[in-house]
Amino acid sequence: MSAAAPARRPLVGGNWKMYHLRADAEAWCRAVRAAAPPTAVDAVVFPAFPLLATVEAGLTGSALAWGGQDLHPADQGAHTGDVSGAQLVDLGCAWALCGHSERRHDHGEGDELVAAKVRAARRHGLTPLVCVGETGEERRAGRTLEVLDRQLAAALAELPAPAPGAPPWALAYEPVWAIGTGETATPQTAQEAHAHLRRRLGERFAGAAEGVRILYGGSVKPDNAADLFAGPDVDGFLVGGASLDAAAFLDIIACCA
Ligand code: PEP
Repeated sequence: MSAAAPARRPLVGGNWKMYHLRADAEAWCRAVRAAAPPTAVDAVVFPAFPLLATVEAGLTGSALAWGGQDLHPADQGAHTGDVSGAQLVDLGCAWALCGHSERRHDHGEGDELVAAKVRAARRHGLTPLVCVGETGEERRAGRTLEVLDRQLAAALAELPAPAPGAPPWALAYEPVWAIGTGETATPQTAQEAHAHLRRRLGERFAGAAEGVRILYGGSVKPDNAADLFAGPDVDGFLVGGASLDAAAFLDIIACCA
């Protein structure tokens, strides 16, 4: 970030994936509220759909936001097992994950579908957190930047220029080989990817690219978060496994304050 660039508010997301039951979610919300996390960091939790009402009840009135782990591109319809943007909004969601690698790989979601989900999120007033990242095989083949460029270009077709002070979307760089593996990217590897993404954003949005928050995700834990956050283009984290534990999530937030 250049000296003249606007400061970006750190953002930490917690992706619970398909974990937790209602009692766990209630306890988590109670613990996080009681700890009153630093207000200098934005925080958002992404519970599984059946837990959204519990999280809404547990976090309403707190500084934490919540969002959906996915959404269908259509506003409603015969799409068994899917969830619409309107249904997420009805449960108080402010955010939606789009293009998480577990969706891309478990469900064969391609760039075009991810772009349609980004479009749907924005249509419903949800803030998309768009995930991009290369697999281990793609990295070993020297294709990391090509993959990031392809995934980013598809999402960018649906995203407006970032307005100063009110970023209407965010990116997460999540190398697939680091997700849930315990094999975190080094701070240098993460920073290089983030700087590349910001350069590409700069080509599209010029100076406004400096306002876009780019999170790192992939085996972030309280003991590696501070080193990763030192990267000038690392604006926070998307945390999976460690976010299930309220204390660990709070520790990671504290590293960004
Ligand atoms: C994720 O689910 O986005 C993620 C980064 O998971 P983990 O932190 O467990 O690697």
